[in-house]
Amino acid sequence: MKTLAFGYPKLGEKREFKSLLEDFWKGKISEDGLKDGINALESSIANTYMGLVDIFPAGEVSLYDFVLDTAIGLGIIPERFKPYEGLKTYFKMARGKNALEMTKYFNTNYHYLVPELENVTLSPNPDFLTSSYKRLKNLSGIKPKLLGPFTFLKLSKALQKQQGSNFGVFNLEPIKDQKVAEVYASAIADAYGVILGEFRAEGADLVIFEEPAFCMDLESWEWDVASGIYQKLKSHRLWVLSYYDSVSDLKRFMELPAEGLGLDFCSNAENLSNLERIGFDSQKTLIAGIINGRNVWRANLREKLKLIEGLLKLAPSLVISNSCPLFHLPVSVKVEDSLPDGLKSALAFAKEKLEELNTLKRALEGSLDSLEEDTKLSIGQDENVKARLRALKEEDFSREPYQIRKELQKKILGLNSFPTTTIGSFPQTQELRRVRSEFSSGKIGRDEYESYIKGLIKDVIKTQEELGLDALVHGEFERSDMVEFFAQRLKGVATTKHGWIISYGSRVYRPPIIYGDVSRPEPMTLDEILYAQSLTQKPVKGMLTGPVTILNWSFVREDIPKEEVALQLALAIYDEVKDLEKNGIKIIQIDEPAFREGAPLKKRDWPEYFRWAIRAFRLCSKANPETQIHTHMCYSEFNDILEYIYQLDFDVISIEASRSKGEILSAFENFKGWDRQIGIGVYDIHSPEIPEKDSIKQILQRAMSVLDKELLWVNPDCGLKTRGWQEVIPSLKNMVEVAKELRSENG
Ligand code: GLN
Ligand code: ZN
Repeated sequence: MKTLAFGYPKLGEKREFKSLLEDFWKGKISEDGLKDGINALESSIANTYMGLVDIFPAGEVSLYDFVLDTAIGLGIIPERFKPYEGLKTYFKMARGKNALEMTKYFNTNYHYLVPELENVTLSPNPDFLTSSYKRLKNLSGIKPKLLGPFTFLKLSKALQKQQGSNFGVFNLEPIKDQKVAEVYASAIADAYGVILGEFRAEGADLVIFEEPAFCMDLESWEWDVASGIYQKLKSHRLWVLSYYDSVSDLKRFMELPAEGLGLDFCSNAENLSNLERIGFDSQKTLIAGIINGRNVWRANLREKLKLIEGLLKLAPSLVISNSCPLFHLPVSVKVEDSLPDGLKSALAFAKEKLEELNTLKRALEGSLDSLEEDTKLSIGQDENVKARLRALKEEDFSREPYQIRKELQKKILGLNSFPTTTIGSFPQTQELRRVRSEFSSGKIGRDEYESYIKGLIKDVIKTQEELGLDALVHGEFERSDMVEFFAQRLKGVATTKHGWIISYGSRVYRPPIIYGDVSRPEPMTLDEILYAQSLTQKPVKGMLTGPVTILNWSFVREDIPKEEVALQLALAIYDEVKDLEKNGIKIIQIDEPAFREGAPLKKRDWPEYFRWAIRAFRLCSKANPETQIHTHMCYSEFNDILEYIYQLDFDVISIEASRSKGEILSAFENFKGWDRQIGIGVYDIHSPEIPEKDSIKQILQRAMSVLDKELLWVNPDCGLKTRGWQEVIPSLKNMVEVAKELRSENG
């Protein structure tokens, strides 16, 4: 039995990838310098693989995003970026003006660039996808790997005639029509054929495809499209890996003309039960993803051995692997030196996952006498938290009816119509980041740091008053990350020093690890919020991150259901809500930008996820009826979850709307009885452009045609922390002026 691993994090133990890329963007290193650095990184990753597993891929160290690389390799370059002039164009497509749209890769927090299919004559640039293999092909066990053609098609948007339009309006949209899909699929398959031909010419005996799209809900015609593609490629030896869930139709998956098929045995038990029911094609190799690529816990290797023995009976030709790409994990746990006692030995990051595969193989071959006993985590239990959870009653999940709350809040807050606000954070300058790192390295003391932050809060309150905003914020200067900040203050949650993950490009974050029962030992946000409130007569919003987002952006314990973890987090946030309330804070915003992200790939699993996610939010937001609860979400795929969002029972929600020019509002046209206040994002904070008053007004007018004007708030799309002051001030000025105009125009 062989081992395969894939998706190893490209970041490097010292974040070398990030430094290389950013140095290149700053002009500190040349293109050759960048390429040499990337090659060195890739070679060192190949060495790590080689020492521990039998088979591993080439071509994993993309300069920005592997979906973008695939598009360029296939020759899919939108007209506006032509002619393609090497790296200059590459980074324009990734992050220049009018860059490709960026969105989340399946149900993960990795963001990819959306390919744009504009026509069906493709001229592939094979070298773009084959050069890494060419360079490293003499290493033993290395195989070419590509994002598979079906997944590529599913992730793309294609230029197509707008549905229901008689005038031949062509829009870029995901493909929902079989005819359109077939045309593009055929072109894409041919382009893949060219790339595969190159690999063959280089002597590759086998190519690995990653095809997570086979785990989505698929129509029968989509399977036809997929088989069509694979029929065209059947002269090649392919291994096709699915992951993130069970494949949605195992029979049809097995019918694909591929020599090896990869299944994820970690995300749920369905692949296994389907296999046991319908069997496996014994002509094929089963690549069994049995080591979890998405969570940080050490595997119970004795159980895994039993699983392997069972699988061998179903599939004599068996390869074991990680269940999905390893780039969802930090590089190695060895360098962590400040984790709570007893936690480190329970953890396995990417490198340690390879070691687990290696150990399993040796155990099977008999070269290992015995496997270590599985060690149960002995820390983190808290009887008080468990008791609190058991004592929850239905009324803990519901507030006074909204109509009553609305009247109470109106009286207390006395806000203008079209009230203006921001989402929370204000620009985090270089200076702030310097002071923060001086504080964490001990160069300056706590007092000095805190008084620096207070100075920033004082300034930002003054700025907001001058701008004429209605509901103010304290600016979040003390927070570098909206999840990590809370994680550092919660019991039962650990944060790492080096556990960085790429979310896109060179951008990294450190997911916390929820290992035990969660509670809040003491107030987390009170000092800053109360200080801000003491400086103004206007309401300052208490600013919290919601339980669902904390959970979805962390690694989560697996010994209890996620629902319980979510409720524990909710109780901790609830304690903070109560403290804010007690101290006179009248508006509390609980951000849930990752509310949707945790939804499973298959819609049939949605009701269960949203059931507990909604309960967690309602539990943490059970404030007095006088307290106005806000929430914030920032993505545009809103339409199909609006029913669930409504059930959160907030008073006010702020949402993305500016990039889509208010298109998101069409969701509300079909929603009967929407009565909650809603802050329409009129300023796209992902862009340095300053929004014109006209465009702000247009979005609000569009909103007024769909929603009662009494419900409307005016705000940016998201927090302003990544923007500069020179853009923020004029943008907010425009926003406030438009709100004032609307007030006078609408009485
Ligand atoms: N309150 C947070 C901020 O303003 C919200 C960030 C987010 O939605 N991602 O930064
Ligand atoms: Zn946001």
